[in-house]
Amino acid sequence: MRSQWQGSKASGGLSLGRARVVYSANLEIEADLIDDAAIPNETKRFEAALNTTRQELQSLSERLSGALARDLVEIIEAHALILDDPDFTDGVVALIRAEHLHATAALKRQRDQLAAAFDAIEDPYLRARRDDLDHVVQRVFAALQRGGAEPDRRVRADGEILVCESLPPAELAQLQYQGLHGVVATASSPYSHTAILARSFRMPMVCGVKGALAQIHDGDLILLDADHGSLIVQPDAIDLTRFRSQQKEIERTERRRSRQKAGVAKTRDGYVIRLHANADDAETIVLAARAGADSIGLFRTEFLFMRRRELPSEEEQFRVYRDAVISMGNKPVTLRTLDLGADKTVGGPLEISQEENPALGLRGIRLSLQRSALFATQLRAMLRASAFGSVRILLPMVSAVEEVRAARSLLESCMAELRASKVPMSDQVPLGVMIEVPAAVMICNELARIADFFAIGSNDLAQYVLAADRNNAAVVNHYDPLHPAFIRTLFLVFDGAHRARCPISICGEIAGDPLYTPLLIALGLTDFSMHPNSIRDVRDMLATLNRKSLRAKAKRFLHAADRESLCALMEN
Ligand code: PEP
Ligand code: MG
Repeated sequence: MRSQWQGSKASGGLSLGRARVVYSANLEIEADLIDDAAIPNETKRFEAALNTTRQELQSLSERLSGALARDLVEIIEAHALILDDPDFTDGVVALIRAEHLHATAALKRQRDQLAAAFDAIEDPYLRARRDDLDHVVQRVFAALQRGGAEPDRRVRADGEILVCESLPPAELAQLQYQGLHGVVATASSPYSHTAILARSFRMPMVCGVKGALAQIHDGDLILLDADHGSLIVQPDAIDLTRFRSQQKEIERTERRRSRQKAGVAKTRDGYVIRLHANADDAETIVLAARAGADSIGLFRTEFLFMRRRELPSEEEQFRVYRDAVISMGNKPVTLRTLDLGADKTVGGPLEISQEENPALGLRGIRLSLQRSALFATQLRAMLRASAFGSVRILLPMVSAVEEVRAARSLLESCMAELRASKVPMSDQVPLGVMIEVPAAVMICNELARIADFFAIGSNDLAQYVLAADRNNAAVVNHYDPLHPAFIRTLFLVFDGAHRARCPISICGEIAGDPLYTPLLIALGLTDFSMHPNSIRDVRDMLATLNRKSLRAKAKRFLHAADRESLCALMEN
């Protein structure tokens, strides 16, 4: 039966596909007990599900390609090992036999026991393997629900729309390579890293669709209108006709745009705005160069450190940074130092202890300064890359001038060391500060004196100013960049930077969303950094705006009391 659902847009686009429902670790089990006669069958069912899962993983690693393939294959191999681990499999079979549990109930019980054991482990790498366990359990669980021996469906994502609670960024990357058409998440938020990744893949994604997991079934047809944060399950003929005409319109617009030359981004009254790109790997850098980005305004280096057993060496980091610089020709590349924490977790050798409240924990520059050897390795790799083009270094999560001073002093000693060893590098490597913590806003005058440039991290700044977790669907309405407090915060930063003549850009997600372009122009921003795929949309929006009249309205934006008045101001 046709039903309509509403959530929030996480990544725009229109798509039609079959549902693939993936349950979270909160598994729905068959709770009743089985009798003796059913035990052999139940054991067989579990073993068949294990086999199906093994085949799925095997076929998945064979199909992977692209930038993340190596990391993802490592993850898949770790998952395959769990499937062969007697602690896991024998435990489930023992529970079926001794406790007369259904395979789903035994699997859940075994998962809970192992998860508790993982939680008690001191070693953070091993503890992080609990996520792997959950992913494996979910796969086996799904195979059990489908009858275990069913052929390999989970790995064939072509034409499928994933319906899930939430999913980790790596999982999305993997499914994208398999041809996934879209994502419907019951939790998650438009500001999670998974959503950022979905936008970079141009994968339609809607989040916060409450109740969808219970009501949507595997194979249901879904029409996903992610631009409006909505979906129709089992669409009727009228829906499909509308979908086809919307699709045609999108294709026409695409064709028209691809004929247009990129050119310089200008407002209608001729004011030049610089559009930079956010990147995190070689592929996005290529997209950035193709989209005509003025520079790489933010290179997120932490993705090099995630989900691996060993830290990337100076040499490995150097090659990645150098290649980014070479790919951008004479345009600058802003390399951000390690920014792990919150939803960007890391297993492996970094040994970050689990924190009660990681968003307020040992993140970004705090972590780097505490691990100075690690930080120095990264700075040296960045400095060496500066011999190949224009490099800028950017510090994340700064909340005090002392942090910038300490980072600069380490940078200078790395420079001296490299110089002494006659390693080539540029003499001019500007050091910038991300403004993404309210404390940094309050001291932006002082920071502007010691920083060479600012980059506003509006994703984090909004969550800290508004006390609303960017990853939490329950507070998505509170995480509103059109909150007057946030607009006034942006103004304070921009005004501080402007007075101190400190160059400033904005690189959070609002920079790439044309909805916010008029507002940011009104506040005086002239440098926007965004995913390369958003450059065209923002450029098109700029061409419709009159900067002079928007600037004249800046005070009214600042004094707006609520969202409604801000929206009204943006419209006229
Ligand atoms: C931000 O916080 O706005 C930002 C650009 O950094 P990240 O999204 O990587 O935290
Ligand atoms: Mg940030």
